Amino acid sequence: MSVLVMKFGGTSVGTTDRIKRAAKRVGREVANGHDVIVIVSAMSGKTNELVGWVDETSPLYDAREYDAVVSSGENVTAGLMALTLQEMDIPARSWQGWQVPLKTNGAHGAARIESIPTANLDARFADGMKVAVVAGFQGISPEGRITTLGRGGSDTTAVAFAAAFGAMRCDIYTDVDGVYTTDPRITSKARKLDRIAFEEMLELASLGAKVLQTRSVELAMRYKVKLRVLSSFDEYDETAGTLVCGEDEIMENNVVAGVAYSRDEAKMTLISVADRPGIAAAIFGPLAEAGVNVDMIVQNISEEGRTDMTFSCPVDQVKRAAKAMEDAKQRGEINYHDLVADTEVSKVSVVGIGMRSHAGVAARMFKALRDENVNIKVITTSEIKISVLIDRKYMELAVQALHDAFELEKAR
Ligand code: ADP
Ligand code: ASP
Ligand code: MG
Repeated sequence: MSVLVMKFGGTSVGTTDRIKRAAKRVGREVANGHDVIVIVSAMSGKTNELVGWVDETSPLYDAREYDAVVSSGENVTAGLMALTLQEMDIPARSWQGWQVPLKTNGAHGAARIESIPTANLDARFADGMKVAVVAGFQGISPEGRITTLGRGGSDTTAVAFAAAFGAMRCDIYTDVDGVYTTDPRITSKARKLDRIAFEEMLELASLGAKVLQTRSVELAMRYKVKLRVLSSFDEYDETAGTLVCGEDEIMENNVVAGVAYSRDEAKMTLISVADRPGIAAAIFGPLAEAGVNVDMIVQNISEEGRTDMTFSCPVDQVKRAAKAMEDAKQRGEINYHDLVADTEVSKVSVVGIGMRSHAGVAARMFKALRDENVNIKVITTSEIKISVLIDRKYMELAVQALHDAFELEKAR
């Protein structure tokens, strides 16, 4: 029997009517002869609400309790989806992460999947169950505590199940009809791509395109999962959506595949730290331990043995980062005059495999930003991407300007 994994995101299960609509789609795949594993997100807005309650209650919260709270949204939709399928006379039941069990490490709030034993679900499928509805985003740690996989983690649950069960495909149903050249909410010139290479999708996701969680793309790439992104609202057809696939399955790459942004970034500068061997380790060690996701790093030229060190991180980690730095200062591990946080910045990036073989992409990017009078605060590059940190008020403008500069409205 061939297994198909279908994942429905928050908007696609946002009301009981939408759950019915999604269930009909599942019913069609059951009629096509598949055993289906349905992965559901929480209803749209629910996880944000739960996160808000945790923040209100305890700003520097215990991550184990954070997970206990924020994982609960998915439990509701999993049960409702199973009930809806049963109402349609389709044999279905729901599973929470721990019941499968989806085993993770103990990194609460951003846990990594370690294994998914298939025996429990296999036994039920052998018994005549047609659909296993699994709560996305959640798992169980070696200590037996509930974990979550990081925001957007249901995508990763879906791909991991597809890999574990050798699924014929993993379909990610969402509120857009595929992967676009940039977020279609930012410019109406964004174009849907028929195909995108794993490497490009991986970069776009990690640089902020939240249509797929980064880990899900990593897993799909590693386990060669056939991954498709499509709309749960449009009429279905076999060629719908975007296929995320190997580079070799794409005829010709555009130089730039897409533009990504990450709106809520912060730029933090430690003013006047001693420029000595080990200073970077003394700064970034405690930040890592505090769970701060440091992204860009710039160390200035030093004068009289002292230098400024700048790094970027998500804006909601600024408090954590500042505390880690103050604590390290108290312990005498680092010394600085001041810590300045600019919490009004965003990161904008262009991504494309074609950059490997085309020169001048950076120059074109910087020129497009100059023409709009957008000042660049920090730049980082890798083989297939260029990122800049800019004032948040120019973020939309920058994305649109870059989309135009690389003629992405002509992409397919
Ligand atoms: P779900 O709740 O289904 O997981 P998400 O909100 O996590 O959906 O992801 C879908 C959203 O991702 C879209 O509504 C869109 O605004 C955004 N997005 C950002 N970049 C892109 C892109 N390049 N292509 C498509 N959607 C994108
Ligand atoms: N509900 C979780 C979130 O909003 C997981 C997901 O939807 O993928 O982040
Ligand atoms: Mg998502």
